[in-house]
Amino acid sequence: MYRVAGMVDDRLAEVKKGIPDYYDAYQRGIEDYSIECAVAKVFCSDVLALVVDEVVQIFGGYGYTQEYPAERFYRDERINRIFEGTNEINRMLIPGTLLRRSIKGEIPLQEEVMKAVGRLSAAAGEAPSGPFGGEKALLRNLKDAFLVLSGAAVQRFGPKMKDEQETLIALADVAIGAFAIESAVLRAEKIAASGNASRAELAAAAVKTFAFPAAEAAVSAARRAAFYVGEGNTLQMLLSGIRRATRYDASGLLEAKRKLAAAALESERYPL
Ligand SMILES: Cc1cc2nc3c(=O)[nH]c(=O)nc-3n(C[C@H](O)[C@H](O)[C@H](O)COP(=O)(O)OP(=O)(O)OC[C@H]3O[C@@H](n4cnc5c(N)ncnc54)[C@H](O)[C@@H]3O)c2cc1C
Repeated sequence: MYRVAGMVDDRLAEVKKGIPDYYDAYQRGIEDYSIECAVAKVFCSDVLALVVDEVVQIFGGYGYTQEYPAERFYRDERINRIFEGTNEINRMLIPGTLLRRSIKGEIPLQEEVMKAVGRLSAAAGEAPSGPFGGEKALLRNLKDAFLVLSGAAVQRFGPKMKDEQETLIALADVAIGAFAIESAVLRAEKIAASGNASRAELAAAAVKTFAFPAAEAAVSAARRAAFYVGEGNTLQMLLSGIRRATRYDASGLLEAKRKLAAAALESERYPL
């Protein structure tokens, strides 16, 4: 959410005050990030649901009774996946808007699809070296999978793509996963650059703890999309491209989770 807010702020800072169409330009500036806003809305409300469900579970029977706050959190959380655009509608908006902008010629989606096809047909590259190299390779592969699947979907459904809700939702889940993992990496890199070594270590543990299940979910969505849009050789090409994203090496996952848990217990709060 902070990342998206920063993007919108940066964009709006470019709109000159006092120009005749200031409010139109301001509105267009916000609309430029409608995809990212939809990603943040869906991701945050889904994560909130997961967190609050865990809160109820951790409280056990007390979590379910009205005398304790967990039950109230549980009820209040539920609306977030319904209002401000239901998560289904927001999901469909993510690839839907991208495809619409591509048809209008606002973004070179087809060119990017062709580049991604080229990368996936070539031998798998080495993971970038340095911190978060594994996560960066995973991101490259997830983004390529998203692009290639979007291209295959347009090829299969043509102008009717906007009505292919199951495929739009599966593509959205790949995009949301990639955006969220990338946001986690960027945040951790920022923390590392600040020079606080113990916080940087915790952030790296958070990236690993998050990237593993997020990648599994994104890959599952990508496979679902592949079976919706592909058949024969195309399907095999799509599946083999997606397989690259399954190679994420989450060694140290258990230690990372325990490090985070220990830090939360010690500080009695969100440790980052
Ligand atoms: C507590 C609360 C506060 C609210 N506050 C405001 C407010 O301040 N301002 C305001 O304007 N509105 C507000 N709303 C309304 C809210 O935005 C709507 O409830 C929401 O947009 C969903 O619309 P709906 O209830 O008509 O459900 P529906 O649109 O009937 O949706 C029902 C279900 O069908 C799914 N669905 C609907 N259409 C499609 C489709 N084409 N494809 C796939 N699935 C679909 C939805 O995702 C949902 O799961 C509020 C609602 C609540 C409960």
